Amino acid sequence: TQTTLEAIKEEIKQKSVELLHLQFVDIEGTLKQVTVTVEQLNDVVEGKTMFDGSSITGFTPINKSDLYLLPDLNTFAVLPWTEEEEYSEARFLCSVTNPDGTLFEGDPRNILKNTVDKAKEKGFSVNVGPELEFFLFETDEKGEPTNQVADRGGYFEPAPYDLGERVRLEIYRTLKKMGFTIEASHHEVAVGQHEINFKFGDALTTADNATTFKWVVKTVAQQFGLRATFMPKPIFGENGNGMHVNMSLFDEEAGKNAFFDESDSRQLSETAYQFIAGLLTHVSSFAAFTNPLVNSYKRLVPGYEAPCYIAWSASNRSALVRIPATRGAGTRVEIRCPDPSANPYYAFAAIAQAGIDGVENGLEAPVETVDDIFSMTDEEREERGIQNLPTTLGESIQALKDGEIGKKVLGEYALNEYVSLKQDEWDSYRIAVTGWELEKYQAKF
Ligand code: GLN
Ligand code: MG
Ligand code: MG
Repeated sequence: TQTTLEAIKEEIKQKSVELLHLQFVDIEGTLKQVTVTVEQLNDVVEGKTMFDGSSITGFTPINKSDLYLLPDLNTFAVLPWTEEEEYSEARFLCSVTNPDGTLFEGDPRNILKNTVDKAKEKGFSVNVGPELEFFLFETDEKGEPTNQVADRGGYFEPAPYDLGERVRLEIYRTLKKMGFTIEASHHEVAVGQHEINFKFGDALTTADNATTFKWVVKTVAQQFGLRATFMPKPIFGENGNGMHVNMSLFDEEAGKNAFFDESDSRQLSETAYQFIAGLLTHVSSFAAFTNPLVNSYKRLVPGYEAPCYIAWSASNRSALVRIPATRGAGTRVEIRCPDPSANPYYAFAAIAQAGIDGVENGLEAPVETVDDIFSMTDEEREERGIQNLPTTLGESIQALKDGEIGKKVLGEYALNEYVSLKQDEWDSYRIAVTGWELEKYQAKF
């Protein structure tokens, strides 16, 4: 459904909105905003708000730094935590435009739009449902996060009515007021770890929702004196934070889910198998988007329900790509390597592009891996042709540079920006001398 300017004006009046936050993301998916007063609404919706693009990570060079914000009316939301005040606040998510009104090619939102448009030309719309996990940590007197988690619960544990549970309830209520459809909320496997699932949607809406979700979770947690983190592996020896991405293609012409085929033994279509093949072929080269941090690769190790090997299966949770049991309109693939530190616009665009590439080139999926991959020996995996996911950010950056997906999705300009940002991050980690090294080596050698 499309939100009209009239409806927005009505809500602004009803809820006494005073301030508008115009939000967008940089190339890491980090939320940025500039705040204007509600009197400026007419100019704002015409895209007249200017900002300095050279001060945003990965945007324009300093000599052509003027960029503009074009709000997406559908993303208008009054911020529930401001509604109790006399005046409240609202936000829009925006696309970034050049001074001549064209879409700025370095904006992650525009990049995802581009991929979605290309898929449309091929007759497909892309549906996405992500599952973002996070930890809640206690904070110290200064409000800085400690290494103490906020609860002792485990997977699906109702627990006594603890802090974690109350925060989750408040997050749910807040998101609901902002227009989310929440499907489930539960304690995750690790102590202090939680998951709240919202309904799938088209790729752009869902990337917007993932961005909003992370912001709301952090905001609400802070109201309880806690720090929410989506970093992939905050605690050694515990499960990390994943962002499983469920994706399906909808065949526009036939008017149905393109992955479902009743006549197949698994009720999956040729298109579905080709899409899976595309994911497996390209995953290493898009891992720098789905798993963008040094820390991401500490999650992708055996024993914590996160994948480390490139394989698919209809039900096996040790595989990278799993096919959830739902069929018919809900037929989809679940890719399990992404983590929630990813820029969702890049991650969804890269995954969709990789899958569609498989469809276009008629790639053939390898045989399904039904056995537990974690318990196989190196030789057994080699026999079956099961390869490893990248094990470091350094490997991922190299694969991104060697592959085609990065350039196809981001274009040359944004890809260069992204690669150089990530290369710097990797280099600074690579040369750092860590506590682990001192502990292991200082006394002994
Ligand atoms: N936390 C796991 C991961 O890192 C996923 C666990 C689950 O959702 N079953 O991906
Ligand atoms: Mg989970
Ligand atoms: Mg899942």
